[in-house]
Amino acid sequence: MLYHSTRNKALTADSCRAVLEGLAPDGGLYMPAALPAFDWTSCLDGNALSMSADILSALLPDIPDMQKLVNLGYADKFETDDLTPTVSVGDFTVLELFRGPTAAFKDIALSILPRLLTTAKAECGVQEDILILTATSGDTGKAALEGFKDVPGIRICVFYPDGGVSPVQRKQMVTQEGRNVTVCAVEGNFDDAQTGVKNIFNGFRDKQLPFRLSSANSINIGRLAPQIMYYFKAYADLVRRGEINTGDEVNFSVPTGNFGDILAGYFAKKLGLPVGMLICASNANNVLTDFIRTGTYDKRRPLLKTQSPSMDILVSSNLERLLYLLSGDCELVASLMQQLSENGVYTIPDDLKAIIQSEFWAGCCTDEQARDVIGRVWKDYCYLCDPHTAAGWAAAEEYRNVTGDERPMVVLSTASPYKFPAAVLQALDEANENDSEFRQMEQLHDVTGVPVPPMLAGLEQKEEKHTRVIPKEDMPAFVLSL
Ligand SMILES: *Cc1c(COP(=O)(O)O)cnc(C)c1O
Repeated sequence: MLYHSTRNKALTADSCRAVLEGLAPDGGLYMPAALPAFDWTSCLDGNALSMSADILSALLPDIPDMQKLVNLGYADKFETDDLTPTVSVGDFTVLELFRGPTAAFKDIALSILPRLLTTAKAECGVQEDILILTATSGDTGKAALEGFKDVPGIRICVFYPDGGVSPVQRKQMVTQEGRNVTVCAVEGNFDDAQTGVKNIFNGFRDKQLPFRLSSANSINIGRLAPQIMYYFKAYADLVRRGEINTGDEVNFSVPTGNFGDILAGYFAKKLGLPVGMLICASNANNVLTDFIRTGTYDKRRPLLKTQSPSMDILVSSNLERLLYLLSGDCELVASLMQQLSENGVYTIPDDLKAIIQSEFWAGCCTDEQARDVIGRVWKDYCYLCDPHTAAGWAAAEEYRNVTGDERPMVVLSTASPYKFPAAVLQALDEANENDSEFRQMEQLHDVTGVPVPPMLAGLEQKEEKHTRVIPKEDMPAFVLSL
């Protein structure tokens, strides 16, 4: 199947190349030239693994043996066989995306992306190993390490800012097992680590290297496509429980940062799934709320630090794919992206704004409002959610109140509450007696009785394997020595 850049229809690649290259040569993102015909009703009859294989083979048809890759990618990694369970909570259905190896929703894509990459590599006749280089401010690094560990033909190196990630996040990374993994702290902040990685990509471009550099972030279609599955899975659960009939429309509320998760929902809709409204939920960094409500995207504002850090983003890179999908106009997309990089702001035409508003609704909440949701949902339904999920819940409630739309609502839950124990304890009005996040997890467990995810329980005792700290200037030499 042919893919092309969102900014230029003439820059094409087949689905293997699109996965292997990640970003198109002009800086655009790869999109299918046309979405395939898809038998969505028979897809719904399967389980999570077969749904995933059906969807991935439709979108990435040049990658062979998809069912095998999917089975290998997810085998024995998730808490439940259905990967992404749904739970009925009050008026809503919560779709739990955090039952994977690192208790964050990024596990779903990062468990399978390595298999897609190595197969695409073989199909394209690329011989050398791939080295995945990532700078992380916390969650992505660990999910990538778990996904790529011991995958043949791939190595992974993760840099994190020394002192710049939470103690639990650090411990998760420095205890990482696997023959092909390296984790290293960099003196400086996240920007230093990220700039260091970018400099390596630029500086090594024309060098003869024993490996091919690649990254694991969500601009890669191979990371986006695996996320479509859980929209089908949630819908199938509702049908099986008799809450809807096949064909009824369902709304989804999605905690949003880079716009990857919610865009996967729009892909599900384009593949035929009866998705009603997609609700884009933000925290106090509400650039997307403003955009969907007004048609103007304006990143010229301070980035606020919130209790839902994975949504602290000012430039949502996957929004570019939505602009292309809805307009079909590469020149328009190229011009909007140029305005964004030069002026930090763009405004879309009124007809495009009308289309977006017919498919998407947007809401945002403060940390205080998110804590209020966590407290209420615990008190009313004995269900514990994290601050990201709470933003999704708040937007879902606001949407219902404002519009009166009573179609079934699925709220996507993107992280375990145990990843943010301080914020959750505060929301439950529990005095936070501990500085240590590990003690806070125990306290949260004592207060609620909710089980600690297996990956986080016992973490404190695990052996630290990766304890190097280097100055940022040494990053290129460090990578060359791998
Ligand atoms: C990455 C992340 C998000 C945002 O997802 P996008 O695909 O970037 O929109 C939301 N919640 C959590 C916990 C995340 O890790």
